[in-house]
Amino acid sequence: MLDSDFQINEHCYQIDIQQWMVPRVGTCYVVKSDKIFLIDAGTSHTTEKVLKTLEEFKIRPDSINAIVVTHEHYDHGAGVAGLLERMPTTMVLASEKTAEILKDPSDFLEISKRHYGEAAGLVSPFPPVKNVEIVEEGDIINLGGGVSLEVVALPGHTPGSIGFFESKTKTFFAGDAVCNYNAQYEFYMPPSFPELFNYEEYLKSLDKILSYDFNYLCMGHFGTQTQPKAKQVVEKAAKTAKEWKKIIEDTYRKTKSEEKVYQELLKKYGDNEYVKNFPEIIRKSILSQLIRGYVISLKL
Ligand SMILES: [Zn+2]
Repeated sequence: MLDSDFQINEHCYQIDIQQWMVPRVGTCYVVKSDKIFLIDAGTSHTTEKVLKTLEEFKIRPDSINAIVVTHEHYDHGAGVAGLLERMPTTMVLASEKTAEILKDPSDFLEISKRHYGEAAGLVSPFPPVKNVEIVEEGDIINLGGGVSLEVVALPGHTPGSIGFFESKTKTFFAGDAVCNYNAQYEFYMPPSFPELFNYEEYLKSLDKILSYDFNYLCMGHFGTQTQPKAKQVVEKAAKTAKEWKKIIEDTYRKTKSEEKVYQELLKKYGDNEYVKNFPEIIRKSILSQLIRGYVISLKL
């Protein structure tokens, strides 16, 4: 077990999925009471890691009642089909927009092909899932023992993004609605992947998260934060998103060049060790996509 696999509180657990084989990139979470829910499913390459960690937490895969998928991205939904092979009676829950992609990922894969370029291998296979039950804003899912998950619509990162608030433990599961955050290097990146990102909606969703009284914030990338840091992370995510907007608008309006925007962002953030540690092809692919997400959303 990694030190990034741990029990968060009385009912919640964090699993490091080791996305791209790297620790501390992606997570899924377990909420355990009379019923057991898995929040997010990782990619189709991380299934064995998720199953192994469940075993280490002494949670049998076939005792999981439902997998809930926070949004329509491969690193949260592509693992569902493989997990269901070991969880034949487990239900799958998602928002309507996410359910559409889970049932037929072809649109999502088209979008990825358009934008990943040389780093296309980062997207794992995304097998379709036949049966998905739809949940929506305001639904309260009861897990017994006073534990429940309130569904919170958090559009912006993607249109189908939802979060879950567990009120007994005051845990907020935010999917990717906050940002890409690396705690070790205190690094923040807006989650602005192209075509699905909406800048204005994203900022509204951050405010919505801050309106909840949470003690734990559980993010897709990466990990759990406790107060007072948890609230600061959400606030810094909003601040960073606004800084990016300014740099991207100013530079792109002048030059119409995503390459120039990339150079400007590196000037401002490139000294961070987290950014330095990425191989150039991955750094450039990811940052270029995040830039394009802004350019499309802001109609530059
Ligand atoms: Zn995502």
